[in-house]
Amino acid sequence: MEHIVIIGNGIAGVTTARHIRKLSDKKITIISAETDYFFSRTALMYVYMGHMKFEHTQPYENWFWEKNRIQLVHDYVTHVHAEDKVIPLKKGSPISYDKLVLATGSKPNKFGWPGQDLKGVQGLYSKQDLDTMEKIAPDNKNCQRAVIVGGGLIGIEMAEMLRSRKIPVTFLVREKSFWNGVLPAGESKLINEHILAHHIDLRLNTNLEEIIADENGFAKAVVTDKGDTIPCTLVGLTAGVTPNVGFLKDSNIAIKKGIVVNRLLETSAKDVYAIGDCAEQQEAIGNRRPIEAVWYTGRMMGETLAQTLCGNTTEYNPGHWFNSAKFLDIEYQTYGWVFSERHIKPYEQHFHWRHPKENICLTIAFHKDSNLFLGINTFGIRMRHPIFDKWLTEKRTAVYVLEHLKDANFDPEFYATHENAIVDQYNAEFGTSITPKKKSWKRIFNSH
Ligand SMILES: Cc1cc2nc3c(=O)[nH]c(=O)nc-3n(C[C@H](O)[C@H](O)[C@H](O)COP(=O)(O)OP(=O)(O)OC[C@H]3O[C@@H](n4cnc5c(N)ncnc54)[C@H](O)[C@@H]3O)c2cc1C
Repeated sequence: MEHIVIIGNGIAGVTTARHIRKLSDKKITIISAETDYFFSRTALMYVYMGHMKFEHTQPYENWFWEKNRIQLVHDYVTHVHAEDKVIPLKKGSPISYDKLVLATGSKPNKFGWPGQDLKGVQGLYSKQDLDTMEKIAPDNKNCQRAVIVGGGLIGIEMAEMLRSRKIPVTFLVREKSFWNGVLPAGESKLINEHILAHHIDLRLNTNLEEIIADENGFAKAVVTDKGDTIPCTLVGLTAGVTPNVGFLKDSNIAIKKGIVVNRLLETSAKDVYAIGDCAEQQEAIGNRRPIEAVWYTGRMMGETLAQTLCGNTTEYNPGHWFNSAKFLDIEYQTYGWVFSERHIKPYEQHFHWRHPKENICLTIAFHKDSNLFLGINTFGIRMRHPIFDKWLTEKRTAVYVLEHLKDANFDPEFYATHENAIVDQYNAEFGTSITPKKKSWKRIFNSH
């Protein structure tokens, strides 16, 4: 019987295993150095914040794996001998495979800062990171200040976690406005204000120079490039992530930043595939980045690869870009492409609307000449994914989107709606006379 070995029990690896089992009787082994069982990485923050226990982040009961004949091995793979189809383990005996799936995820970036390996300096990625954070920052008596380095989605999550225990937080952000490489200026400004309103000491335009140790090798302060020394006992390194591929050095598998794959998710080595955060498309797909470190694309790659491994050769085809996240208590959604000023396309024009009082805004990107709808970002308004997916596929205009915006709104009933104000502003700015159409459940159901 063919033996499929998967390294990594994150969303990408586990999805592959589940779908192979649905489609076949192959022997499946998953190896992970992190935890015995799969858990939802995106929910780690809620464990620290006391909203759930770690066990609640595990989507499957522990018996699920044996019942589905998926063998789990808790060990670290030190190398891949692709010529012999063997992988050595740190503790156990080497394992042979017929097909190998690399789904080894990411690791937090470290840029060679002096003091980056001190105790009390950590990223927020793994279950081990969560455990360390619990130890170093159990409360504001043991941790009188934390400094977070790097303004992105994980940095803001870490700040929220620490603030939930009333630990003072200083947030060093290299850019002049939060996440402005991704978000257009108006949105980035809203998030700056929101961070400050949460009593987080946000320092924009500021780089980490050095982390200073105490006599026991623990971090006791950071020094910034502005010459400030900030005493702290926890330093969170959240300046992005990099594919976790160090163990593949000398494995004869092509690596750039991540493991290079084609649309079939094949690596340069025969019968070896890579998926999820650790994979790098040899040619970027549309406007997507060659490495996509997001949850749902890991799942999609897993589903796609399972088809190929079970005889139905299938290309990875992720469709329209979308994503969602939270900035403290503001929900953010994005569909299609809305670029920041740093990356805006020559043909791209933006319409930005912000609520006069509340933390609610949106940006619609469209083609300057044709008014073709390119994408939307929303903050504090929940939208329906299938509707935007359909409008992008149907190549609708921004005017059409605004006319039908009420169909897209997914906020619970009785929430205040803002479509009339949004359309009024668009009409005023662009000299149009759009009238928002009434919400139509028929149109909404037709989009599913
Ligand atoms: C705090 C946090 C919040 C996030 N929030 C969001 C979000 O809101 N939305 C979103 O889309 N994405 C989010 N992400 C990103 C998302 O979690 C990742 O894109 C996704 O989990 C990656 O899945 P994966 O299966 O590729 O890898 P991983 O989940 O990283 O799994 C890889 C596994 O392989 C193991 N491994 C690596 N090397 C070896 C080896 N040599 N031997 C044995 N085992 C090995 C690792 O220990 C790990 O357990 C978040 C990430 C973090 C850290």
